[in-house]
Amino acid sequence: MRLILLGAPGAGKGTQAKRLSADLGIPQISTGDILRENIRQGTDLGLKMKSYLDQGNLVPDTVILDIVDERLKREDCQPGFILDGFPRTVPQAEGLDILLERGDMRLSGVVALDTDEEALVRRISSRFTCSSCGADYNAGNGQVPSQCTACGGAVGQREDDREETVRHRLGVYRNQTEPLIHYYDGTGRLRRVDGMASVEDVYRAILATLG
Ligand code: AMP
Repeated sequence: MRLILLGAPGAGKGTQAKRLSADLGIPQISTGDILRENIRQGTDLGLKMKSYLDQGNLVPDTVILDIVDERLKREDCQPGFILDGFPRTVPQAEGLDILLERGDMRLSGVVALDTDEEALVRRISSRFTCSSCGADYNAGNGQVPSQCTACGGAVGQREDDREETVRHRLGVYRNQTEPLIHYYDGTGRLRRVDGMASVEDVYRAILATLG
């Protein structure tokens, strides 16, 4: 199973990818998580990319394609993988096609989560995240703990989850990522799911659409 989850920031790609990963036994590859981990560890890459993330801009395609190329070559990707937050531009999708062809791999499906922008702004600006393991907490669902219940890490708001930056990221999505819907529609592998339904219903819809 080689899957792409497409959708705006806050559409629930990460939540669904984590669950699919656990149930299908294949890794979730989140380019956002990989970049944030580099920033946390203060690597050269992290230091160079931090300002892109803080401002809600996309990091250069070549940087992302190098990261994904290296990641897909690892052993754990042999049985399949779930791409979460990648590709995000048409050149990235074209680069992925080349990587897949080189590795003699085929995509099983591309699932696009359809969403409503205003609801996303509300959803993301109330999202709090563990700085250590990345677990999400929603301020709308009651009190957010200051320490992660899963790993004990510090819970806070991601710099790029503040409302102004969220609106900017949604604009970036509209301009640069949404064209991918048409890119994959042409291949016959695109499946669309209502991303505004409950987490459970979205998950069921994804499984149903993948057969
Ligand atoms: P995410 O966690 O997927 O929302 O990604 C957070 C940030 O990481 C984005 O706003 C970008 O700055 C950067 N990023 C993650 N994935 C990509 C990608 N495929 N292409 C470019 N930038 C990315």
